[in-house]
Amino acid sequence: MHINVVCPHCLKVSSVKKKETYTTEHCKECGGSLLESKPLNANLAILDYFIHTSDLPVIVDFWAPWCGPCLTMAPHFEAAAMAMPLQAQFLKINNDNAQIQNPTIIIVNIPAVLVFKDGKEIDRFTGARSSKQIIKWVEKYL
Ligand SMILES: [Zn+2]
Repeated sequence: MHINVVCPHCLKVSSVKKKETYTTEHCKECGGSLLESKPLNANLAILDYFIHTSDLPVIVDFWAPWCGPCLTMAPHFEAAAMAMPLQAQFLKINNDNAQIQNPTIIIVNIPAVLVFKDGKEIDRFTGARSSKQIIKWVEKYL
């Protein structure tokens, strides 16, 4: 079985064979590694594109630079993303910009981490969590 994933380097779609674990996997378009799964700094347009393009769950962290718990969680969110290449796709969105651009995704408290699958939000949590807790939460939706 093949799945469509979005390349974090060029944002083109690559079709990859679904496996339990990966040792190497490259984008057919730019040659960049699809295993570099550091959270991508995105905006709502990029989020929308990922949601409708990737076959993987899309995990997005809404944060802001003035938010202490957001900064506390940032390295944990990054560690979770790095631990799960080609299992889920991780994005970060600065919520200060997002709320001005588009009010369709209502974020009350941050950090807020949302999971999208099959084109829609299926769950979220708010407040800082550890990388272990984030991984455990994401695994429910794989
Ligand atoms: Zn690429």
